[in-house]
Amino acid sequence: MMGQQCPKRLWLHKNRPDLKPEISAGQEMIFARGTNVGKFARQLFPGGKDASPINSFHYRESVQQTFDWIEAAEPVFYEAAFQYGGVMAALDILVQKDGKWYAYEVKSSTEVKDQYIMDAALQYFVMTGAGLEIDDIYIVHINTTYARAGELDLNQLFSIVSVKEMVLKLQDIILSQNEEYKQVLELTEEPVKDIGPHCDEPYECEFKGHCWKHIPELSVFNLTRLWSTKKFDLYYKGIIEFRQLPGDFVLSNAQELQVRAQKDNYTHIDISQIKQWLQQLEYPIYFMDFETFMPAVPLYDNSHPYQQIPFQFSIHIKESPESELQHYFYLGEPEHDPRSEFIMQLIQIIGGKGTVLAYNKGFEASRLKELQTDFPEFAVKIDLILDRLVDLMEPFQNKWYYTPEMNGSYSIKYVLPALIPELSYKNMEIGNGGVAMAAFEGLINMPDTAAKIKIRNALLEYCKLDTLAMVRILGKLQKCI
Ligand code: SF4
Repeated sequence: MMGQQCPKRLWLHKNRPDLKPEISAGQEMIFARGTNVGKFARQLFPGGKDASPINSFHYRESVQQTFDWIEAAEPVFYEAAFQYGGVMAALDILVQKDGKWYAYEVKSSTEVKDQYIMDAALQYFVMTGAGLEIDDIYIVHINTTYARAGELDLNQLFSIVSVKEMVLKLQDIILSQNEEYKQVLELTEEPVKDIGPHCDEPYECEFKGHCWKHIPELSVFNLTRLWSTKKFDLYYKGIIEFRQLPGDFVLSNAQELQVRAQKDNYTHIDISQIKQWLQQLEYPIYFMDFETFMPAVPLYDNSHPYQQIPFQFSIHIKESPESELQHYFYLGEPEHDPRSEFIMQLIQIIGGKGTVLAYNKGFEASRLKELQTDFPEFAVKIDLILDRLVDLMEPFQNKWYYTPEMNGSYSIKYVLPALIPELSYKNMEIGNGGVAMAAFEGLINMPDTAAKIKIRNALLEYCKLDTLAMVRILGKLQKCI
């Protein structure tokens, strides 16, 4: 599967695993989610024999075990392993019914993606090559239309889609790819392959730190609002840095500003636009930020798979320009649905007048609208917050304030260090929303230990910094006019 994305990735995986970066908390969350979904999917076919190896060096035993259980006509297997033509494949669930064999590959995604069909085609190739006749092969994926009500309904949670027809059509391709990739693996030198869109498709390659090291931190790949294909067009012509851009290359206003700011180390501030934008703000100002998590298997009634569940907020309040800053927060417990307590406390703190500021308000607005749908008793009061919501990102998105350090981005993660270098997400235990999600989900059923307290404190620190950053950014805008 790695070879299909890029033969060099396959070679590096086998020969240079040392070049892989450490697995991030976000990736760990995705792996854990996959394992969790897999466990639930097994319950669709309970009581199976598990052929999982004790570790990746023991697949031979798994292959032998699978063979023995097939001979014994066992009805259900998990992690059935097969080997054929120098290729090994393991399948999530194998079922035997009335002498016929059915293969199921479980994915934690919400649809059948092309790469899953290739994966199933390879499994089918190996299983049938090893001598097992497969009557049908399916992708089992999450059904996002399912709304939990009481006990989990596994038949509703999962969609089961036959992919046999497509898999059969791919068998010749799989055969030739297998030969090609075996040759790649025999190479003694790293294969030559330039960077390209394949570095992120279908997955972000873990070797980008190695293959992209000739690309400087600021390059044409950071050009704002430019399609990826156009960026690669420039790169393939040898144009990597802004100073190499040809004179006739058409830039939008925002791109021109970005290039000029970087070349001349120039900061652009559109005083009149910022002044106009600031005029709409009314004290008290509420600086508001939400954190959410998205459990693949819904944990709470009246929620869907992958629904964004708000579990935490931070609010800083400035009653007047001169007043002391006040801070409020809420942080739920994942064992209980945090949404109603979240919205009740939010409504109480925010009250009925003054501007509510968010950075990228579309995110907070969407969560508030979802809460309106799920808890209609709060709908009117939520409207009072939505009506007062203003986006602090707007001056930066419109490049009314732009410094070269923003690197073409208007994300708070770039704007904050550019404007307020002494405030930083660096060195924080939890430093971005993805890690916060993983951390909260990881708290499920965690005993009340020092580790749990540490994670909760790190979550509080992170969310608090998000709103404190907004306070300081607004202060900077007010100062500049
Ligand atoms: S970073 Fe790109 S070129 Fe390098 S191995 Fe990965 S996919 Fe291939």
